[in-house]
Amino acid sequence: MYARDEKDQRSISVVTAGQAAAHVPMCGLNVSYYDPRRDEVRIKQAARGGAGTVMRHKHIKAIVVRYSQMSGASNGPANADLIRKAGQRINHEITEFDSSQNDMRGNGTPYLVEIMSRFDLLPIENFRFGSDPRSSQIAGAIWKGMYDRRGPDGCWYGCTMACAHAVPHFHLQTGPYAGQVVFVDGPEYETLGAVGSNLSLWEPAQMLEINFYADTYGIDSISLGNSIAFAMECYEYGVLNLERTGGLDLTWGNYESVMTLIHQMATGEGFGVVVGQGTWAMSKLFAEKYGADAQLMKDIAMHVKGMEISEYIPRESLAQQGGYALASKGAQHDEAWLIFMDMVHKQLPTFEDKAEALYYFPIWRTWFSLHGLCKLPWNDIIPVSNRSLPPKEAAKVPEHVENYTWLYEGVLGKPITIEGILTESERVYQFQRVFNLRLGFGTREYDIPPYRAVGPVTAKEYESRTERYDKQIREEIGVDPEGLSTTEKMALIRKYRLDRYDKLTDAVYKRRGWTENGIPTVETLQRNGIDFPDLVALVKRHGG
Ligand code: SF4
Repeated sequence: MYARDEKDQRSISVVTAGQAAAHVPMCGLNVSYYDPRRDEVRIKQAARGGAGTVMRHKHIKAIVVRYSQMSGASNGPANADLIRKAGQRINHEITEFDSSQNDMRGNGTPYLVEIMSRFDLLPIENFRFGSDPRSSQIAGAIWKGMYDRRGPDGCWYGCTMACAHAVPHFHLQTGPYAGQVVFVDGPEYETLGAVGSNLSLWEPAQMLEINFYADTYGIDSISLGNSIAFAMECYEYGVLNLERTGGLDLTWGNYESVMTLIHQMATGEGFGVVVGQGTWAMSKLFAEKYGADAQLMKDIAMHVKGMEISEYIPRESLAQQGGYALASKGAQHDEAWLIFMDMVHKQLPTFEDKAEALYYFPIWRTWFSLHGLCKLPWNDIIPVSNRSLPPKEAAKVPEHVENYTWLYEGVLGKPITIEGILTESERVYQFQRVFNLRLGFGTREYDIPPYRAVGPVTAKEYESRTERYDKQIREEIGVDPEGLSTTEKMALIRKYRLDRYDKLTDAVYKRRGWTENGIPTVETLQRNGIDFPDLVALVKRHGG
């Protein structure tokens, strides 16, 4: 299909699965849109969960949509005035506060690099460490100076936040497009964490090359980065060597080897295909094939339910450990991002507080996905009305939640309350859990994070933060750490933290209306109006 002119270009969008989806499971989808100000076809990714691989396995390479009647009223809103009312409030706040809050319009999501490093949350060397002075080399301000500034960067035409930045005139050095000058959409924070700090790579040009090829081949950059980081750590421990990697030196920060792995994933050759199977598959394979310590492999494979953990270290936030591991889809922060509420602001002191947050936020955030809405304007801008609220209420940003009730009514003509939103969303959330169960993942054993997400796996990690862990042993466990070896102290911390995670799981299951094994009870299905006979039979079979 060829676009006849600029107007026609604007009416075409293409959803594609990339070349790598034929060979590795960690592949997402690219969705294109035409940017008339730059005369560029831009892309956004639905990267997580392997949707690209699924599409490719169905022998579909792309879906092309042409729709030329696009306007603000294309979806036939019932009450355009209500939508305008919400839009005006959202746009006003973004215009007024973005530059002094997160400056998403200037920096995009890379503003997070610096903050995460400051709070010891930025994954470095497969999540072993959380901060590094070199993080300033890939921080927001660096990218701000490199972005194409020719116009706003909304990834849909009405977005005032406009955070979808891109770098123009990038000269590719490797692979099939070496020598070409390209326009790189991104990088986003998650990509910088995954394929930058987590691999100990700190050169912006390297980030852009990896970003370009990950997108072009359709690989999820989070799973990509974590999987290569896992392989690099295994290389450090001698589980992998030159013979096993097909001659690739996987020392931390070896950019050439990283690029080779990525190109191999696209062509289906070499060790790249092994790495592309993800951390879960590699952890089992290396234990079976190379005799690696199975517990170590399990502890350092940074995934939950087979999905690699996104780029925040949850070790010092019990609520975030649950946010990742108790999420239906696997370790993705879009269900619950609670690190600051829990670790920094200390707003969730009890198990019940954490369980309440792990009930509310996943349900609320699921609602965005159900309606195809971006979450960023909800809590990346904080309204003035938040200042007078108690902190726990403020985290919900009620004024912005109200905006969504207006948008909902404006489009559908049906009034809805905040409680109504939660009811609708919980119905789906509980259904997803039962669906998980049907696919063999909806039980307690799959809700446990890898130990590195909970505490220090190796002496090197413990000793890099001795003061923190010794303090916990002294003040929370009630044991004097003086005279204990690192191994003994690590064992104490491990037992204590895993026990706390267990207690959190109990509290969350109770709040969500699940059994001790994480099965929604029949009453929970009834309360949500999803007590269909096959669902009831399934949960009953599992003790629900
Ligand atoms: S805020 Fe959301 S919709 Fe707007 S440009 Fe950023 S990612 Fe796109």
